[in-house]
Amino acid sequence: MLAMNYRGPFRVRVDHKPYPEIQHPQDAIVRVTRSCICGSDLHLYHGLVPDTRVGMTFGHEFIGVVEEIGSSVQNLKVGDHVLVPFNIACGTCSFCKQGLYGNCHESNPEATAVGGIYGYSHTAGGYDGGQAEYVRVPFADVGPMVIPADIHPDDAVLLTDVVPTGYQAAEMGGIKPGDTVVVFGAGPVGIMAAKCAWLFGAGRVIVIDHLEYRLDFVRTYAQCEAYNFRSMQDPVLFLKKATDFYGADVCIDAVGGDAAGSALQTITGRKLMLQAGSATALHWAINSVKKGGIVSVVGVYGPTDNLIPIGNVVNKGITIRANQASVKRLLPRLIEHVQAGRIDPKGIVTHRVPLEEVSDAYHIFSAKLDNCIKTILIPPS
Ligand code: NAD
Ligand code: ZN
Ligand code: ZN
Repeated sequence: MLAMNYRGPFRVRVDHKPYPEIQHPQDAIVRVTRSCICGSDLHLYHGLVPDTRVGMTFGHEFIGVVEEIGSSVQNLKVGDHVLVPFNIACGTCSFCKQGLYGNCHESNPEATAVGGIYGYSHTAGGYDGGQAEYVRVPFADVGPMVIPADIHPDDAVLLTDVVPTGYQAAEMGGIKPGDTVVVFGAGPVGIMAAKCAWLFGAGRVIVIDHLEYRLDFVRTYAQCEAYNFRSMQDPVLFLKKATDFYGADVCIDAVGGDAAGSALQTITGRKLMLQAGSATALHWAINSVKKGGIVSVVGVYGPTDNLIPIGNVVNKGITIRANQASVKRLLPRLIEHVQAGRIDPKGIVTHRVPLEEVSDAYHIFSAKLDNCIKTILIPPS
């Protein structure tokens, strides 16, 4: 089968790989019909996630058709069209039982932090991902969900990660009616967080980025204010002035840490992404939230990105909440929001690319070329 194949930082290509096999009675094999490239894949692509092995197939956002099921799978049948949450979750460990599917123990028992994730290095369990024609889906009775007939496939694939992550960012912010919410990052995750902030009753939503095309997009898509941090001398002062020097009620970090990625991109001669990253957005969030406010972090950080201004956190009495999204927990209510037209996930898709062109697709999304927001990869049919 054809599959994306990681060759080292900034080098991915499509190759022939063996078909995945059922390895456990609870496995299923899914024929992928669509997958996405995520900002999280960029951390892998930039070589920033430990133990990302050459030969691995990325892709934790995918939908497809059940091709084969293991002997004990009960909730799926061959031919079902399913969306598959990015978290690999057993459904029975103490974390899964609390709805913390992103922190499942059984899917990645050797890790101390994250649960299993498709195509996300051996630190997330070493599972191959869905940027391929076929993928092995463990714990197949737990994660996959049959796609309701009235959900468009492009909406379905965005429900595997980006929509739940944006929604959980807003939820962790504990937004109360009338709150001022600042979202750092106008990528797919930040755009969804801004959109979802209104669903929690926000009174004002402000998005900060430096890519004008994304700021333009989010202004229309999420009907919010959006500002370019490169046009400000001091983003924290700007946000304080914008909030009568009180600070925002809630700040959301939808950026994560990736400065090394952009540095490396310069070294390798790729067009520079200009991603500020490396905890910059998190610092701005902590410093521009009000006293007693909440900072919600869904941006992904590497093991070295731990320099947070703890003094300000203590002195301002800030609450920081952070996690990988627990997709399965959120899906029922998000499907309702999509069906009711309150969220239009497919509206953020800018690129549809054959899987065979995966190398160009990564470069375009990483370097933020061609007004790229979200890319869908289509395997050969
Ligand atoms: P993306 O790369 O498309 O978007 C990131 C955006 O942040 C870009 O538009 C960039 O210009 C902007 N940015 C860079 N530095 C900034 C700064 N200092 N202030 C404000 N904006 C800044 O990525 P994405 O797909 O939107 O993902 C965003 C983050 O969310 C990534 O770190 C990704 O790994 C993470 N993520 C987390 C989860 C989760 O479950 N927690 C799920 C998906 C993605
Ligand atoms: Zn993702
Ligand atoms: Zn579990």
